[in-house]
Amino acid sequence: MEIACLDLEGVLVPEIWINFAERTGIDALRATTRDIPDYDVLMRQRLRLLDEHGLKLADIQAVIDEMGPLPGARGFLDWLREHFQVVILSDTFYEFAAPLMRQLGWPTLLCHRLEVDGEGRVSDYVLRQPDQKRQAVEAFQGLNYRVIAAGDSYNDTAMLGAAEAGILFCPPPNVIEEFPQFPVTTDYDGLRAAFCAASNRELA
Ligand SMILES: [Mg+2]
Repeated sequence: MEIACLDLEGVLVPEIWINFAERTGIDALRATTRDIPDYDVLMRQRLRLLDEHGLKLADIQAVIDEMGPLPGARGFLDWLREHFQVVILSDTFYEFAAPLMRQLGWPTLLCHRLEVDGEGRVSDYVLRQPDQKRQAVEAFQGLNYRVIAAGDSYNDTAMLGAAEAGILFCPPPNVIEEFPQFPVTTDYDGLRAAFCAASNRELA
């Protein structure tokens, strides 16, 4: 029995914070863990910026709704779901991902969540568990699933390493260099072929 685990941002949808910063013109929201390595400090800054600009959850979701999935993502995901049980493992939040999940046909998503107050303001965030992508892969293996995982970045490499097969999709050059053990794909046809090659079944 096989299960496919997919990263979300950079694989099926654009990078949410970067795209959100571009669409709202709030440059300071472009900061990532490369600029502010402490994730908690980074998230507190993001939530403060949303507040300062008077952006409530509904406003944020309206902007995210306009991003849409990456071109071809829905077709790829539909194909994958015909051949595998598919679980998306992401470090985003349910409330941010919801408009994109609707456009992807509501696949299963394991991620984190936001706290929203009575006025619709994002007041806090809750990480479900540390290292959740690797934890999920190991839990599926404990249920006797063989895991094939795909992701684009550093925060996926523990998941790819724990899986029976790990695949990189459009990764940055430093990730390719540092993790030569994972095959690299650059489009959905290539990713489809990599899943077929990694499977222990004959897939059409
Ligand atoms: Mg990603």
